[in-house]
Amino acid sequence: MQAPTNNPPILPDDTPRIMRCAVPAPLYTLLDYLLPGDVDENRQLKPGIRVRVPLGNRTLTGVLIETHHSPDVALNRIKRAESLLDDEPLIDPTQLALLRWTAHYYLHPPGETLVLGLALRERRGEPPAPCGEPGVALSERGRGLPAGALQRAPKQAALLAALQKAPLRLTDLNELNISRSIVRELMSKGLAERIDMPPSPDWRCRSPLVANSEQSAALNGVIAALGSFSCHLLEGVTGSGKTEVYLQAVAKVIARGQQALVLLPEIGLTPQMVQRFKARFDAPIALLHSGLSDGERDRHWSMARQGHAAVVLGTRSAVFAPLANPGLIIVDEEHDTAFSQQDGLRYSARDVAVKRAQLSDCPVILGSATPSLETMANARTGRYQHHKLTQRAAGATIPTKRILDIRGLDLDAGISAPLHAAIQSTLERDEQVLLFLNRRGFAPTLMCHDCGWAAQCDHCDARMTLHRHPATLRCHHCNGRRPLPHHCPECASRRLVSSGLGTEQAEASLHRHYPQVRTFRVDSDSMGGKHAMAELGQELETRGACIILGTQMLTKGHHFPKVTCVGVIDADSLLFNPDFRGEERLAQLLTQVGGRAGRAQQAGEVIIQTRHPDHPLIQRVLEEPWQMLADQLLGQREQLGLPPVGALAALRCDSRALDHGLQFLEQVKRGAGISAGEVNVIGPLPAAMARRAGLYRSQLVLQARDRRRLGEVAAKIASTAASTKAPSGLRWFMDIDPIDTL
Ligand code: ADP
Ligand code: ZN
Ligand code: ZN
Repeated sequence: MQAPTNNPPILPDDTPRIMRCAVPAPLYTLLDYLLPGDVDENRQLKPGIRVRVPLGNRTLTGVLIETHHSPDVALNRIKRAESLLDDEPLIDPTQLALLRWTAHYYLHPPGETLVLGLALRERRGEPPAPCGEPGVALSERGRGLPAGALQRAPKQAALLAALQKAPLRLTDLNELNISRSIVRELMSKGLAERIDMPPSPDWRCRSPLVANSEQSAALNGVIAALGSFSCHLLEGVTGSGKTEVYLQAVAKVIARGQQALVLLPEIGLTPQMVQRFKARFDAPIALLHSGLSDGERDRHWSMARQGHAAVVLGTRSAVFAPLANPGLIIVDEEHDTAFSQQDGLRYSARDVAVKRAQLSDCPVILGSATPSLETMANARTGRYQHHKLTQRAAGATIPTKRILDIRGLDLDAGISAPLHAAIQSTLERDEQVLLFLNRRGFAPTLMCHDCGWAAQCDHCDARMTLHRHPATLRCHHCNGRRPLPHHCPECASRRLVSSGLGTEQAEASLHRHYPQVRTFRVDSDSMGGKHAMAELGQELETRGACIILGTQMLTKGHHFPKVTCVGVIDADSLLFNPDFRGEERLAQLLTQVGGRAGRAQQAGEVIIQTRHPDHPLIQRVLEEPWQMLADQLLGQREQLGLPPVGALAALRCDSRALDHGLQFLEQVKRGAGISAGEVNVIGPLPAAMARRAGLYRSQLVLQARDRRRLGEVAAKIASTAASTKAPSGLRWFMDIDPIDTL
């Protein structure tokens, strides 16, 4: 990426002023434009305003980075910008610095990165959404009506009476049981009118719980640090009261008149978190996630920018949301890979959040029961303050854990007799059971019993999963679907058999085993709706004995207070992951699943079924606190020079033929002329799954102990790739700090 020049040199007056803009296109440079014809040469132009500019035969909405006078620019080749869209920048200087850092660090086109600082409608060149919520108030005529008017239309009379007290938000109407049609009727009579209800300027906090000593220590550390940059790791076992620490820290931030940004891995899976913030704060909360309509999201975006939102709660892209006055950033479940974006700009919202806190002079809290090794390493060197919550807050005890050696045991849909016994006795005590099986569908493979044929996806190097509801073969990598074959395509045999176990099959078997007991299946097939997880949570709170069976969706967020028995049906499917983060993931998953047991008063039990009872990692997960596990895993990474001790980057290719990708990468590797020894260049190699969704995937992996050196080499590789002619249909992208190397 080319470094922009800073201050304009003093020049003869006839050198025109040039706008250097980031334009949303796959270009690694900023683009120069002449000022629009109607704009005065001496007008003040603030970086961060939007500019309509031509590119090719299109007109795009770009962002002004700076203006300059450069005699070197070939003026006859510069195009004129069409118009300026803003007087005041939509992207403030801090956010601009953050977005430019992001583009630079992740080697992504600056124009495509900068748009992440804009709401959807702003990217289209429209003005920012108004902050107010749509509401309804009495018109002048309506105010003139006497109390008790409209007797013959009782619903309208009720609305009138309510509006005589105060205007209402449209969203409040549901609570009052007033339908929108009643509003329309009043409006058509000229008695009421639509208004924009401004967010409340009063920010109040309802009373907190009494923090225990560990919570107080963590809180004091964060509160003392308000007003300047620092990083805080809040490591707390599940149920230890991390959320309470967030809430109380946010209360202090709000009291200072500042805003808090709270990032969650997936809002749909953590409705309780949103509810707890709403319950604690009587203050406007902006929500930024894909579950909202575009209009709502844009409005919340404006609330954040105008400083009307006290708290901004969102998923990873909210890390780029505008904030008038940021006072604290929180990343909950910071280890979650959902914080890493896997297409377009590949970034880690956690890492960007830390950079943002630094640029905003505010603290950042990274919270988790199983912090990533990256964060643990930073805590170890003292760069992050390490706060620990070791006890469960509400008096619940840490569950006991047990390895169940299932070698040689009969299994019924994956479940051994001892696990069945534990399930049975839990249900008899009227308590709840949670079973973890990390594979959705009925069975992972459909095979021919006579010739060994297995159903493969036509577009991926992967087998198709058998689903029963509805009966299909599905590919979990490209979402491809096919009807079930009636006979083997190779040998025409009708003896097609499934092999392996998925949640649908386990569910069916549990129904047979425990016909009186309800089984709730929790996977991405069964939990379609936005509110599915919240509804399940409520349902479980009102129930006694039942079974919850699900995939890793269960490890996220939700509290299941009545669960006292947790069973991991097939821990072995998690072992032997070839990726360098495989063991870290396994340990996190097992610890998180285990954390779901016994959150309330009853003691809990965790049972892990395995055929590798002596596997050192499974043993340690049961016995050691996270810190010791992390230390051990960090030792291994150190020896291998892998992150976070060393750094990784990957240049990845998708192409129509495998050779296209491999040859392109080889050309880039040679063209970049990287001398041996400064970084390790591995590849070009096909990816572990060489074909996915019809495209061939290949990669060149860079590894170095020195992060800065790696960044320089990666930049060289990216710029070489940008200037290397690629065969048609080939797409490449840089993946800095990739979450895997598969
Ligand atoms: P985490 O976020 O670490 O999973 P939570 O903040 O959700 O933990 O706390 C778990 C439970 O303990 C919640 O029901 C919460 O209300 C309760 N809790 C948290 N802190 C306290 C406290 N200081 N006193 C009493 N109960 C608490
Ligand atoms: Zn066959
Ligand atoms: Zn596929």
